[in-house]
Amino acid sequence: LLPILLHQFLYRKAAPTTLPTFLLIGPSGAGKTAFLTLAERKAVAQTHTSTAPLTIQALLPDGHTPSSSHYRSPGDPAYERSRRFLLVDTPGHGKLRHFATSRLANPSNVRGIVFVVDAASVAEEPGLNETAAYLHDVLLALQKRYTGAKTSKGPKEIPVLIAANKMDLFTALPPNLVKLQLEKAISEVRKSKAKGLKDSGVAIGAEDDGLDEEREWLGEGGEGSFEFGQMEEAGTGVVVKGGNVVGGNGVHVGDWFEWIADLL
Ligand code: GDP
Repeated sequence: LLPILLHQFLYRKAAPTTLPTFLLIGPSGAGKTAFLTLAERKAVAQTHTSTAPLTIQALLPDGHTPSSSHYRSPGDPAYERSRRFLLVDTPGHGKLRHFATSRLANPSNVRGIVFVVDAASVAEEPGLNETAAYLHDVLLALQKRYTGAKTSKGPKEIPVLIAANKMDLFTALPPNLVKLQLEKAISEVRKSKAKGLKDSGVAIGAEDDGLDEEREWLGEGGEGSFEFGQMEEAGTGVVVKGGNVVGGNGVHVGDWFEWIADLL
């Protein structure tokens, strides 16, 4: 895969705003900057603490075909153009998350969201709960955007890739367990949020309160458990794919690029 990454052609800024954009979101330490750095410098360098969004222009690596170019040949200018996209790294630190959420409220050109998860840290409570709370808020923002849209057609769908990173660590959960853990933890977030609203009196009184409550409820109604499949209703497909940006016996992020390729 390294030779593939060598072909990635990346440079900072000066990128036309019309390019398809992918947001990198996730808690601190998940590996967002490492992924961006890997792509940008073609080698893993020391990461910095990101305090502001950073946009880079990326080229889909060789070996992946943009879905819009399946009938074109490599070398064709239209093919080459279709491989270009923007990656926006958003700060994962709690106090800086408004960058990510404000971008979600007005997501021009956003084709998809890559939510990076540390697959080892979600094996235990603190990491799992922090990740689930953040993911819950991101999904709720997408749901509100979708259901609040004025047009009858609804806004364009924005799918989410949960990039289960650090698969090289033996403490990392496999992708199917990352999915189950997150669904379970998001069910809890959803429940405690609903209870919080009720207790604070937000949902008592005026007539449209039932509606408000509904808007704050992620996924389908009902008190049961949350599953990512419920997000389909809100135009948001969610998939979980494993990978590792550094370490182990080589870098493995091919599944993530394949997901991006399908949206280009
Ligand atoms: P960010 O806060 O999401 O931007 O996370 P960083 O990119 O700064 O990564 C946090 C730490 O995790 C760094 O020390 C990275 O080297 C490390 N890291 C990132 N990806 C992987 C991976 O796939 N495997 C392992 N073992 N460590 C990783």
